[in-house]
Amino acid sequence: MVVLNKRSMVLVLVLAIAIAIRETSSESEEESSSSIISRFQQYLKINTSQPSPRYQEAAEFLISEGKAVSLEYEIMELVAGKPLVLLKWEGTNPHLPSILLYSHTDVVPSEPNKWAHHPFSAHLDPTGRIFARGSQDMKCVGMQYLEAIRRLRAHNFRPLRTLYLAFSPDEEIGGHHGAEKFAQSEIFRRMNVGVVLDEGLASPDQHYRAFYAERSPWWLVIKAVGAPGHGSKLYDNSAMENLLKSIESIRRFRSSQFDLIKAGLKAEGDVVSVNMAFLKAGTPSPTGFVMNLQPSEAEAGFDIRVPPTADPESLERRIAEEWAPSSRNMSFYLGQFKQKTPVHDKSGKPLLTKTDGSNPWWGLLENAVQKAGGKLGEPEVFPAATDSRYFRQLGLPAIGFSPMANTPVLLHDHNEFLHKDEYLKGIKIYESIIKKYASFDGQERGEFRDEL
Ligand SMILES: [Zn+2]
Repeated sequence: MVVLNKRSMVLVLVLAIAIAIRETSSESEEESSSSIISRFQQYLKINTSQPSPRYQEAAEFLISEGKAVSLEYEIMELVAGKPLVLLKWEGTNPHLPSILLYSHTDVVPSEPNKWAHHPFSAHLDPTGRIFARGSQDMKCVGMQYLEAIRRLRAHNFRPLRTLYLAFSPDEEIGGHHGAEKFAQSEIFRRMNVGVVLDEGLASPDQHYRAFYAERSPWWLVIKAVGAPGHGSKLYDNSAMENLLKSIESIRRFRSSQFDLIKAGLKAEGDVVSVNMAFLKAGTPSPTGFVMNLQPSEAEAGFDIRVPPTADPESLERRIAEEWAPSSRNMSFYLGQFKQKTPVHDKSGKPLLTKTDGSNPWWGLLENAVQKAGGKLGEPEVFPAATDSRYFRQLGLPAIGFSPMANTPVLLHDHNEFLHKDEYLKGIKIYESIIKKYASFDGQERGEFRDEL
């Protein structure tokens, strides 16, 4: 039997209380993280897949989440049937330019039978991975903003600058009825936005990725014509032969760009990517194609992505002179996407957000991520298009950032998932960023908003 004196009994009592407190706090932390995950799952379960997203359901959910953390809310239909949810937390100095935390609510289609778990089941597997379309792109970010605000509210944080959260439709189909209209609206002008945070990409290593620009998509169709002929005859200038010469030239260019990435000389977003999207030629027959006939027309389509640092004129020259020269009976057509998403602004400057000292928001982001225990990699060009371009076109700094480290890049892929621990870590990262951004009392340079 152990005999305790009075002093050690007090000590035991204190220890017991300390253990009990620790247990309850870790229990309540566990409980709150399970409700955080379940709110994320709720959002993921709303099928907002193109081409017929359930926008109304998503909007109702987001408004109720906004209300739960005492944000003002507004629902805008800049195009009928395509709601944009705007949430607001007014700053103590509403005259300072505001912070816009931006996300899109739609997701790309999926093939459920090729997934391990249904893409709208938001299945949480025993290892902690949450499977859902939109788990990376980008419902995670939209909910993390809200959860970070919930934490800041709980700690009685008061923002100096006004914070806005925008949940926008249609990003996955070009954003013309979403971000594009929003950025041009009177409401947006009155919001007096100073900086925009938008989506980034997952990172397979421990560094978070941040994006300051994006490549512009060009959709190129080249067409060759030539005299038709018997399948047995060798002659020059057939449509197929002319098209093949072009495809060979485009393939060489593609390899030269890809080699730069493979050699580690350039990042994915810094080169011009070219990928063949379709090939169209041949004369159909009831059993397939006519074989003893060389067709008079042949066509191929390419998805090209042009970084803002590339020279668009020289690329157009290459298309006209090498890939579709009229001397080879060829013509080309650049899809309207090219006109709608310029890589340069009206004055001819590339559309990019500065990452040096002239943009205080970049440094603040780096600091905030670091403070929350994260590491930021080198600034990157986003390899595909995002809604950020509509804000950059206005001269606003827009940073692409989705806090997902140690995560394979699975956007638009089968079995898109995010680990719950990464999701929870991301909330802390945003808490730190929002705190820094909303407390920033410095003056931005006038160059951000020339018109203001
Ligand atoms: Zn996205």
